[in-house]
Amino acid sequence: MKDILTNLHILLQRIRDAEQTYHRVPGSVSLLAVSKSHASTLIETLLGAQQHDFGENYLQEALIKISALENKQLTWHFIGPIQSKKAPLIAQHFNWVHTVSRFKEAQALSEHRPQNLGHLNICIQVKLDNNPKRGGVVPEDVPALIEVIKPLPLLRLRGLMTIPPFSEDFEQQRKYFSLVKTLYEQVNDGTMDTLSMGMTSDLEAAIAEGSTMVRIGTGLFGPR
Ligand SMILES: *Cc1c(COP(=O)(O)O)cnc(C)c1O
Repeated sequence: MKDILTNLHILLQRIRDAEQTYHRVPGSVSLLAVSKSHASTLIETLLGAQQHDFGENYLQEALIKISALENKQLTWHFIGPIQSKKAPLIAQHFNWVHTVSRFKEAQALSEHRPQNLGHLNICIQVKLDNNPKRGGVVPEDVPALIEVIKPLPLLRLRGLMTIPPFSEDFEQQRKYFSLVKTLYEQVNDGTMDTLSMGMTSDLEAAIAEGSTMVRIGTGLFGPR
């Protein structure tokens, strides 16, 4: 594995190249560094290179890193499944949650969000297959979920997130992302600004279809 800062520069260049190729505004796609299974010392190294946004999937692992880096300027994103008993700690320790797929999760997050921290930023996770084991809500149910989430006082709905079914085919990847982009345009009343889509193996397709935030683990930290 190459040095992590070399990986960061290669990745940022990949993002900038994709922005240019697909006629996106330069700098309109941000990088969420997915640090699951990687040590907080690597997070600190990236922080030194102006990477401030980090994503974690597992609450217990994340809390250790969050407390180790407590006095640093970091933005923490929760990107794993939300178990209801974990919602209070997620609401207290994260700035963003990308994986909201049910009203009761949103309700628990809002209820447990400490007032003094301000809004918790959330995205609704959209799933493109009917696998009941996969997180997310099917596209048809997104508008109704948005309506019930909107009145929750301590959440700010920033947009949609997706993890598409795996495909190595670029055109197929684009088709999946395009479905979510179209949905986003339908449901966005002007208050949303985030399409969280694209990982190491499909970030170009996601950027081609309007992603504003790519979530990258392997391409930055190496294999898990
Ligand atoms: C692990 C993970 C990622 C990062 O995936 P890579 O393929 O390692 O870049 C992105 N999003 C979510 C939700 C993840 O769980």
